[in-house]
Amino acid sequence: MQTEHVVSTQLILYGLSWLIAAIVMPQERKCLANWAAYGLLQGLSGFLFVQSGQVFGNLLLTLAFILNTLGFYAAMRGIEAFSVDTSRLDRWLGGVIIIAIAALLLIPMTTGDHTQIRRAQGLTYSAVNVLILLGSAPYLWKGLRKSHSRLSAGIGLLPGMLMGLTGLAQIVIFALSIQIDASQVEKLNSDNLLSSMLATGLFNLAFIFLFISQVVRRLRDSSQRDHLTGLFNRRECDERLKAIWQMHRRKKMPFSIALIDLDHFKKINDSRGHSFGDECIIQAATYLKTEVRQYDVIGRWGGEEFILIMPDTTIDDAVKLCNRLREGVSQFVISTLGQPLTVSIGVSSTDSADTTDGPSEIFIRADKLLYKAKDAGRNCVVAA
Ligand code: GH3
Ligand code: MG
Ligand code: MG
Repeated sequence: MQTEHVVSTQLILYGLSWLIAAIVMPQERKCLANWAAYGLLQGLSGFLFVQSGQVFGNLLLTLAFILNTLGFYAAMRGIEAFSVDTSRLDRWLGGVIIIAIAALLLIPMTTGDHTQIRRAQGLTYSAVNVLILLGSAPYLWKGLRKSHSRLSAGIGLLPGMLMGLTGLAQIVIFALSIQIDASQVEKLNSDNLLSSMLATGLFNLAFIFLFISQVVRRLRDSSQRDHLTGLFNRRECDERLKAIWQMHRRKKMPFSIALIDLDHFKKINDSRGHSFGDECIIQAATYLKTEVRQYDVIGRWGGEEFILIMPDTTIDDAVKLCNRLREGVSQFVISTLGQPLTVSIGVSSTDSADTTDGPSEIFIRADKLLYKAKDAGRNCVVAA
């Protein structure tokens, strides 16, 4: 069995695996279907390439190049759908692809010399792939970096970059070899397609890794995060509160917690509707998320109530921070929604007199202080 056959079969299997994944995971269909197309088109083009030496010559080779190029196009669209949900690539890549296909189809009509046809097609194929692979790299890098680490984004782009650079080398070789015989062209085209198929194998491995890590991260996020606001949910806050309390116990590190409750929220719901109420909660959460410090934990404790856990923070510093947040939330919500909204905050800190084996006392204190803030007329911070 020829090497091309082995590699092509493998690519078709990759394509089928992505196809099955696309069927069972409809929410990820856009990227998975593109990668399925990528594997299948590349595999098919490999088979056509091998056959092209024996029957129909130029026609099959032209088809092999076209399918292969379309495969790369699908791969890039798949990465785009995987990282950012827009279709900006289509705008310019679509044009490149149409010109490339037209060129690959027209070349055999311009001359009867098979060697020159294959050379020109090989050159066109390489040039188009360099454009597709290297041209989309900066844009895809930006998209991948939005949701992935530098390392993961690098792993995702590496196969395409390698392939693009190989394409560049091929262009140079083709351009330099004007006097070239049929078998040399055959060999160059074969190397060209084979290296693209090997890069496809690498691509598949990279994206299986990235896709699984994305699914795992989403699962973890959905178990830790509140659906409406994206803040940590109550269970996660509970876990983190316990962990921070353990640190306090072992290392004598003080910490503070604040319970933040939107004032008269029922009135907002009643007067402007529940979905506007939701929007207020989202905006308040957005503000809190961006304003708290990196090591603070902010979560949605319940309906219109948030919890802020501030490690290594004394009561005085916590009160200062909470007053800033109290004023800031009001300003933010009025600027984004035009809705006057205030919050009341109860703040408490660790106390050497605490006796329970857990954070329950500090939490109960904050809860009582929140009630005091409400009794004191709302829109204020009350600390022990
Ligand atoms: P107070 O100043 O004493 O806190 O008054 P309040 O109206 O904010 O407090 P209360 O506990 O009486 O009512 C809270 C309201 O928050 C009632 C509930 O319908 C609403 N709420 C809770 N969760 C959500 C939510 O997810 N979305 C919306 N829109 N409203 C919610
Ligand atoms: Mg309230
Ligand atoms: Mg409440």
